[in-house]
Amino acid sequence: MTVSQRARNIVPSATLTIAATARRMRAQGIDVIGFGSGEPDFDTPDHIKEAAVQALREGFTKYTASGGIDELKDAVVTRLKRDNGLEYSRDQILISCGGKHSIYNVFQALLEPGDEVLIPAPYWVSFPEQVKLCDAKPIFVHTHEQEGFRLHRALVEPRVTAHTKILVLNSPSNPTGAALTRDELAGLAALAVERGFWLLSDETYDALVYDGHEHVSIASLGDQVYARTILVNSLSKTYAMTGWRVGYTAGPKDVIKAMDNIQSQETSNPTSIAQRAAVVALTGPQEASHRMREEFDRRRRFIVERLNAMPGVSCLSPQGAFYVFPNVSGTFGKHHAGTLIRNSTDFTAFLLDTARVAVVPGVEFGSDAHIRISYATSMSNIKKGMDRMAAAIQQLR
Ligand code: GLU
Repeated sequence: MTVSQRARNIVPSATLTIAATARRMRAQGIDVIGFGSGEPDFDTPDHIKEAAVQALREGFTKYTASGGIDELKDAVVTRLKRDNGLEYSRDQILISCGGKHSIYNVFQALLEPGDEVLIPAPYWVSFPEQVKLCDAKPIFVHTHEQEGFRLHRALVEPRVTAHTKILVLNSPSNPTGAALTRDELAGLAALAVERGFWLLSDETYDALVYDGHEHVSIASLGDQVYARTILVNSLSKTYAMTGWRVGYTAGPKDVIKAMDNIQSQETSNPTSIAQRAAVVALTGPQEASHRMREEFDRRRRFIVERLNAMPGVSCLSPQGAFYVFPNVSGTFGKHHAGTLIRNSTDFTAFLLDTARVAVVPGVEFGSDAHIRISYATSMSNIKKGMDRMAAAIQQLR
């Protein structure tokens, strides 16, 4: 007896694995600073929690419609109009168990075996694995550090074939923080319309942009691109609700209907009380979320400066999300305690062993010269982590 080829074909989520390692080490009494997981350190705002408590008290604890409650779909419609300038109707919205689940359902609904999905690299770890789970092929579109890891039409066009089904967009990007401009998006939208592929726009980090960057939803750039865009977002990062597992999709009715059918056989509804809380998160006061963004911005500036002061490390300043993706290849070829650092995996192991700092090796995101550091942790942790990292790098010979 053995597990399926499909199961053997994928790797576990590196981001979740690193977070689990840091948690395990802490449980053993080891003082490890976790920069691994992209999870806000803030608590879910009280008014959102209250809505869940109230839902519990009211006995709102049973199955809901598999694709989510109407009230939450309407809240998503309101949010997309208010923040993204997009018009959707209730039957164009599906609520799922987190953005990751939304994305998986999109792939399940659209992909045939052998279809090609264009994924900009560096990429979030789950995109290629989810594509493989649908027996389709991830095709990477490499962006360049010298261009700020920006995706644009000239990079994508040579990779489009007759088998291209979807281009994945993730702006702002996990892991690089690159956020695309209206012009860059317009070029990609035109290409999608000309060549007839879908756009899966993962906008999970749209509320976390800095330096005056304006987030633009690609679906807002015209009727033709609207008709071939499937927008995914999540409440996890914007409202510090990672554990609640609420994500949503907006797109053409027939795709949403297909995804709902899949979800009805797969998970049924997202948790009832989390849906009630999500309504309040999306339609209630947004100040808590704005304050979190300001704090992330402060941390971003600090961490970029500290990293750039370390020998062998260089770090671009990201326009969005809460990750930095420093290039650490200047340390490759050096030794610590007789061990050679050859790549991002070695560097990550060295940091964990020597500095008790947990990061994710860039190789997991498709770039072995880099590491990913999440700054969604307290300023005191960031200071301590940067001090430890600098001290460890000083020891390299
Ligand atoms: N998206 C976050 C990250 O990249 C959470 C973990 C995950 O789902 O990958 O760290």
